Amino acid sequence: MFKNDTSVFDKINKYLAKKGHEMFLSIYLKDYNGNNIYVRFDFVSKLSVYKIVWVDLNFFDEKHIEDYVNIQMVTKYLSMKIVEKLTEEEYENKYALDDEILGDRVEVLTYFKGTHEYIFDRFLPLDWEFLVDPLAMIFSYLPRSMEVFLNEIFAKYDHLEDSYNYMKPVKFDLLKGDAKKVFKPQIIERGKKYYEAGKVSFLEKLDNRYIAIVDGTEPYLVIIEEVDDEHVLMWCNCKYSTFCKHLYAVILAIRNEKFNNFYKVKYIGKEESLLDKVTIGNFYLCFGVDDDKLLLVTSEGAIFPAFIMNKNKCVFEVIEDDDECSLSSYIKELSNK
Ligand SMILES: [Zn+2]
Repeated sequence: MFKNDTSVFDKINKYLAKKGHEMFLSIYLKDYNGNNIYVRFDFVSKLSVYKIVWVDLNFFDEKHIEDYVNIQMVTKYLSMKIVEKLTEEEYENKYALDDEILGDRVEVLTYFKGTHEYIFDRFLPLDWEFLVDPLAMIFSYLPRSMEVFLNEIFAKYDHLEDSYNYMKPVKFDLLKGDAKKVFKPQIIERGKKYYEAGKVSFLEKLDNRYIAIVDGTEPYLVIIEEVDDEHVLMWCNCKYSTFCKHLYAVILAIRNEKFNNFYKVKYIGKEESLLDKVTIGNFYLCFGVDDDKLLLVTSEGAIFPAFIMNKNKCVFEVIEDDDECSLSSYIKELSNK
C-alpha cells in the first residue's frame, strides 16, 4: 500500500518530533494479514517518560494526523525493562526474508546506538529471542485486537507455524512441485493410499480454484486456489487443520488429470423473477444425496445438505448430471413417491 512511500512515515515522524518525541524503536507490520501498522517506542525528554505510539496506516489521513496517531504512556518499570532488553543486544542488522511468502513483513528498527534493523517474514526466527520480551511488552500497550499479530509473530516459539502457514498462500508448483516441501512424509504416504483407492470422488476446476470431495470417515471438501503464477492456497475442512492427506490425494488427482465434475443444481423453490429466468444464474455444486437431501457445496466452501422436496414439490433443477443421469432419476423417483 505504501510501497516505497516513506512520506507517510516522514509526516508521522515530523508530527511526533514537534511534540518532543524521540524515537528509540519502531515496528512496522507491512501487509501483515493485509494490515499496515506502524508502532513506535519513544522517549519524551521534557516529561522524562517513554510513550508508545501506534498508527493504523490502512485508516490514515495525513491531513488529520492528530486523529489517527494513538499515544500511550508507558510505566517506568516497563520502560526500564524494554530499554534494558534492547540494550543487551549486540548491534548487528539481521534479516530473515523468505521469498516464498506473500506479504506479512515485520520491520523492527532500533535507534539505541545508531540505527539497526531486524527484518523478518511472518514469524520471528527462533534465534532472535532477544526481541520476544520487547515485542510482547510493547504489544501489551496496543489494542487487544492486535494480539492476533503477536500470536502469529511468535508462532515458531509456540510450535504453531504449520497451522498459520496453512491459512496462507504457499509457494508451490501444483503440477510439478516437490510435495515434501509442504507435506510431512507420513501424510504423503496416507494421501497416496487415498488417491490410489479412488477416494477423490469429485474434482473440478472453476476459475482459479480446484474443488474436490475426498471420501473419508465422512466426505471432506478440499479447495486449492491458484493465487498467482507461483502461489497456491490449500484448504481442507477436516479437523487435522494443517496440510493433510486429503489435500495431498487431491494434488495427485490433479496431476493425473482425474477430473470428475460435480453435479450442478439450481434452486427453483422461489417464484422466479423475470431476471432469474434470463440469467443463467446461481447454481450449486452437488456431490450426491443423503436420503431426501442433496449434498451441496456453497461458493464460500462449506458443505450443506438441502431438502430436495418442499411441500411435495421438488425445489431443485438438475442442470448438469453424470452420463447415466443418476441424479435426475433419483430426484424423479423421489418426486413420484
Ligand atoms: Zn483434510
